[in-house]
Amino acid sequence: MATIAVIGAGLAGLVVSRELAHAHDVVVFEKSRGVGGRMATRYADPFEVDHGAQFFAARTNAFRTFLDPLVSAGVIADWPALFAELQRERIVASRQWDNEYAHYLGVPGMNAVGKKLASGLDIRLGAVVRSLQRNGIRWRLMDDRRKLLGEFDWVIVTAPASQAVDLLASSSIAATAANVRMHACYALDAEQRLAACGDWFVRGRVEGAFSSAKALAERCGREAG
Ligand SMILES: Cc1cc2nc3c(=O)[nH]c(=O)nc-3n(C[C@H](O)[C@H](O)[C@H](O)COP(=O)(O)OP(=O)(O)OC[C@H]3O[C@@H](n4cnc5c(N)ncnc54)[C@H](O)[C@@H]3O)c2cc1C
Repeated sequence: MATIAVIGAGLAGLVVSRELAHAHDVVVFEKSRGVGGRMATRYADPFEVDHGAQFFAARTNAFRTFLDPLVSAGVIADWPALFAELQRERIVASRQWDNEYAHYLGVPGMNAVGKKLASGLDIRLGAVVRSLQRNGIRWRLMDDRRKLLGEFDWVIVTAPASQAVDLLASSSIAATAANVRMHACYALDAEQRLAACGDWFVRGRVEGAFSSAKALAERCGREAG
């Protein structure tokens, strides 16, 4: 049995930890106060906003099999939404998501998925791993006050590449992480705007929509890019 540190309690960290915990001692270190990472839900009474992933699709049988227990537990649900494409404030196309492949939502919010996957795991919240140091054949994890968080046989880093570069400084894959270019994805907490957007959402005629970054930027009263 090996001791394994997993850095990050997002989807990747939680799933790999669950798999490994069957046979090894696994500790998950998460810098924020909750689990789920970018599958996040923000509470702004009376609204709840999924400001990371808002939904996801299942295109393979393997992924559908992985999802089955979460569907049975009521943690995710199929979302056969009426989906629209917006240009400025007009709907230029719309379609009902069909059965070709399912789209899912977390219930009641996307953070429910992380909470469910975290159950039974040893997770240290508010634990920023600042550096990894080799100690013989093991790894020492240090926090931002240079305090030892623990020593492990293996370390799995699931932080986004740009955040992993410093952590990986003492390993040969730092350069690989440094070369990853991420695409921007903006979340607009738009409760007032949606209400002002007409009655598509309010009356349930549209349940989800794509809009270009430029159109969103214009709606926010500034130029894109
Ligand atoms: C706005 C937005 C919209 C999106 N929409 C969709 C969508 O519609 N459909 C879809 O399928 N996907 C979507 N995604 C992508 C999806 O959310 C991510 O691909 C997925 O959640 C990434 O999971 P992960 O575990 O790899 O990383 P993360 O969720 O980023 O988890 C990494 C975790 O590591 C922690 N961490 C980082 N550094 C450290 C450290 N030094 N010490 C301790 N902890 C650390 C972070 O706090 C975080 O919790 C969206 C993402 C965003 C941001």
